Amino acid sequence: MAGLLLLDKTGPSALAGKEEMKTDFSDWGNHRYFPISQFYKNRFGEKVYKVSVSVAETCPNRQPNSRMPLCIFCDEWGSAAYHLERDKSLRDQIIINRDKISKRYRAKKFLIYFQSYTNTFDRVSDLEQRFDVALSEENIEGIVLGTRPDCLPSRILPLLKKTHESHYVTVELGLQSFFDHHLTFLQRGHDVQRGYDAIKKLHEHTGVDIGIHLMFGLPDETDEEIIQTAQILNELPISNVKLHNLHVLTNTPLAEMYQQGKFQPVELQEYIDKVILFLQYLSPDIAVQRLAAVASRWDELIAPAWTKEKMRPTQMIEDQMQEQGIFQGSEFSSDK
Ligand code: SF4
Repeated sequence: MAGLLLLDKTGPSALAGKEEMKTDFSDWGNHRYFPISQFYKNRFGEKVYKVSVSVAETCPNRQPNSRMPLCIFCDEWGSAAYHLERDKSLRDQIIINRDKISKRYRAKKFLIYFQSYTNTFDRVSDLEQRFDVALSEENIEGIVLGTRPDCLPSRILPLLKKTHESHYVTVELGLQSFFDHHLTFLQRGHDVQRGYDAIKKLHEHTGVDIGIHLMFGLPDETDEEIIQTAQILNELPISNVKLHNLHVLTNTPLAEMYQQGKFQPVELQEYIDKVILFLQYLSPDIAVQRLAAVASRWDELIAPAWTKEKMRPTQMIEDQMQEQGIFQGSEFSSDK
């Protein structure tokens, strides 16, 4: 385990331990895990939806003259959900996507999710301007900012702190793994310590909520690593986690590896087993954003085919947790 950083955890009190078995799931919306939708409901008093926008244009690995290779899984859109709207203004993206979500879910409150590439890899003044545009729109409760752990310069922290004093702010860190050998395989260009440093910096200097993106289904990943990952998170001042299975998209370094037979994605059941194991050890106080990757550009997905199925992996995880009498934190103990 690399350099575990112990910090006080904020938030509601955890289950006392696995001996105190949870039997009522109504406070999790009858899920077997603590979904982010319920976290937002607790925080805002009603459902809140994320509106994805695509504004940042690059990242340290992609900038011209970068000597860093690309993350092996990253397609040219840098994880943008609505890449075709990139040419629209931020305001237009917000209006279009907010209205779509509003109609589909009868939603009334929203967070603007700066999703693609690395959103703190710009000038602070540009970022501030984007925040102003986002927060001036109707029914916007706050901001979710996606970035890398090695892209949080000190000059950006006062803006995050100031914004979080008037609105809700979450910074989502694409950490992907708490093991350096996996980060090396993924070609992230940062190590685990950078992740700890980023979490500490955000916690101590801004007070924003912190979310962590993780990938499972990495080569030679062990059950022990999955359990340790949950235990590491339990000791960090984070509020949520988002899970992805490593999948192969066209025009990525991983696609070449796949075609050369050097990488094989995990089967659905194997992935389900990993997620269930992880959730068992994860504190019940940490909200879960997503249980598996969703390929937003299906035509770019090479493998595994099950990543195209938006709901089935999540439903199977929940069904199997129920069958096995497992819930998030059923193996968690606050004194571990
Ligand atoms: S995953 Fe993020 S940091 Fe990595 S190459 Fe893509 S946009 Fe850049």
